[in-house]
Amino acid sequence: MSQVPALSYSSYRTYLECPQRWKYLYVDKLPETPRGYFTFGRVVHSVLEELVRPLVVPSARRRGETESQRTLDEWPSAVPVAPAQPWMTQEQLLALYDRSWTGDGYVSVEEENRYRSLGRDLLLRYYEQLLRDRPRPVAVEAHLEARWNGIPVHGYIDRIDRTPAGGLEIVDYKTSRELSNEDAQDSDQLSLYQVLVANNYTEPVERLTLFHLRSLTPLRTRPRDAGALTSLHDRLGTVSDGIRNDAFEPNPGRQCTRCDFRSICPEFRAVPPTDGARLTELVDRFEALRQEEHRLETELRRTAEELHRAAEELGVHRVAGTRTTAIRRREEAWQYSLDTIRPLLERSGLAGRLGTGTPEEVRRLLRDLTIDPEVRRGLAEAGARRVRWYWELEEPRGAG
Ligand code: SF4
Repeated sequence: MSQVPALSYSSYRTYLECPQRWKYLYVDKLPETPRGYFTFGRVVHSVLEELVRPLVVPSARRRGETESQRTLDEWPSAVPVAPAQPWMTQEQLLALYDRSWTGDGYVSVEEENRYRSLGRDLLLRYYEQLLRDRPRPVAVEAHLEARWNGIPVHGYIDRIDRTPAGGLEIVDYKTSRELSNEDAQDSDQLSLYQVLVANNYTEPVERLTLFHLRSLTPLRTRPRDAGALTSLHDRLGTVSDGIRNDAFEPNPGRQCTRCDFRSICPEFRAVPPTDGARLTELVDRFEALRQEEHRLETELRRTAEELHRAAEELGVHRVAGTRTTAIRRREEAWQYSLDTIRPLLERSGLAGRLGTGTPEEVRRLLRDLTIDPEVRRGLAEAGARRVRWYWELEEPRGAG
């Protein structure tokens, strides 16, 4: 049994994708190869943090369960006020970007230059928007923790803003190429942040936002309802139980192509050279048999159909071969249209008599003489008889 660390969104998502990879990262603490795309995201996030921090006016935070809540009035009078004038020039912003830049993980100088110029353009446009729109952040890069119904969770939230109505808006920056409204609506990350903010701040969460930096577009959604949060809590509980029980099986899939641990992952362990030839032969045989199986299935179906057509024409059910006899069997089943049956029963005050609507249930109603004959006739008319023919082989002569 392992101790379960507080789950962040990325830890939770990693475990869902592949428990084995989660173990490499969070238990064995193996490093990953840097990737330019992630480096780029980190640099842009850190510059935005510095850029927005002077605008922050802290908000009331909850304290521990045994302590009373703190309100805005308790903050020292020296609470910073959002500056009216630009607090950073464009030149200072670009100098900050240059100081923060790191070339880790880019596959070529061209790629690094492309990302570097994208970041410069994106930050300058964001800066203009910031001067125009002047958000009211109460926190940037806020590290929040909570124990959510027994599950410890935590996360770093890019920005928390005050809304015009006095509530809170959670903002998560995204440097990705594409982002849609559905991404914001379905984001487990935003749901988890909602829980963290609700547990740490006194004001209500009013909006959840993914901010698409490349287009400067905020994709806003309403806070999650209780049902969505319960469903996320269930999934977090499954992850938490898995970690506690050391369930770290590999989960191979598309994620393997970008996984740094293929060389040590049991899923990709190579067959020892001494067994290579034997196993290769087995795989080839297995594959050949599979193909034969498909061919035989097709041939069997065609032969049965041909035999059925001939037997139908002649009106016979038993056909002798040289070794055994083939017997044509008939299977009959009734199917009922529930779209017809339910309204009929509702109109007759019998809606409660039908459960899941299996054919057996309907046939029981048909046999029930306490039900009006007109209703039973309606039920019968909503049914269709399906007949299936199939062949069986008699025991070979002389067997047994
Ligand atoms: S290679 Fe695939 S299965 Fe193995 S740890 Fe990585 S993601 Fe998991």
